[in-house]
Amino acid sequence: MRIDLHAHSNISDGTQRPAELVAAAAKARLDVVALTDHDTTDGWAEARAAAKDHGVGLIPGMEISCKTSLGISVHLLCYLHDPANPALLEEITKAKVARLSRAERMVERLAEDYPLNWDDVSAHVAPGATVGRPHIADALVAAGIVGDRNEAFASILTSHSRYFVSHYAPDPVHAVELVRAAGGVPVFAHPLASARGRVVAPGIFHDMIDAGLLGLEVEHRDNPPEGRAWLRRLAQETGLFMTGSSDYHGAGKPNLLGENLTTPGALDRILAQGTGSAPFLP
Ligand code: AMP
Ligand code: FE
Ligand code: FE
Ligand code: ZN
Repeated sequence: MRIDLHAHSNISDGTQRPAELVAAAAKARLDVVALTDHDTTDGWAEARAAAKDHGVGLIPGMEISCKTSLGISVHLLCYLHDPANPALLEEITKAKVARLSRAERMVERLAEDYPLNWDDVSAHVAPGATVGRPHIADALVAAGIVGDRNEAFASILTSHSRYFVSHYAPDPVHAVELVRAAGGVPVFAHPLASARGRVVAPGIFHDMIDAGLLGLEVEHRDNPPEGRAWLRRLAQETGLFMTGSSDYHGAGKPNLLGENLTTPGALDRILAQGTGSAPFLP
């Protein structure tokens, strides 16, 4: 079984429509793919229809951007939650709205030094999609200022950049509680991705586990080898399941569908504990 539980469409910062992503999953010989757009479930219906067409399993999911009290970024994947759950929906809507004004403010700052305006950025955002720095990167690429998204993130768009603006994001412990209350299965995404910024201390892992965290995304290209060993030990000690995933973003990142895989046993844990929405399994 080839199972990849982390992929983005253009409903957030991927470059393919949800149906195109599912077609790509079929082409990559995946048996099961999860759609995990940032802070939105708006791609689920299209992905589900495409999954039926292609005979690929679909786990509806989402990736919630969170921030600790120290300002450290945490990404929380969740699977099979109820997309209409009011408390969770309110929180991600708040984040999505904040992301838009944050991106506009970043573009205002950038416009002081670069020939870039909001229209240039919004040209890269699908209608209603969750806006993020990758869309600003796409506009910088189109303007010939950088060569690709990665170069933009390595320079102009890093969190240390003078153009960077942060946005509202829920606390990760609270987000775990919200996901569980919505019948979803929370999994800590790329927990030790130190190249992206500071990572959380062990105490935050334990706070999230106490709040109901169920899994750790261990096999992810951004987790360094020593970090993966530590995560495996933590999973063993605490009874969490482990996942492996690509974090595919279409042409937006080098990550390829199926470059890391999740075991059928871990998928079974997700299917057993996710009660807020239905998977499609052919
Ligand atoms: P934001 O959500 O606006 O803070 O932007 C973070 C998003 O940018 C993450 O979801 C990543 O997928 C994406 N990202 C981070 N680093 C890179 C990179 N080096 N190249 C392409 N995309 C990136
Ligand atoms: Fe992303
Ligand atoms: Fe992420
Ligand atoms: Zn992701």
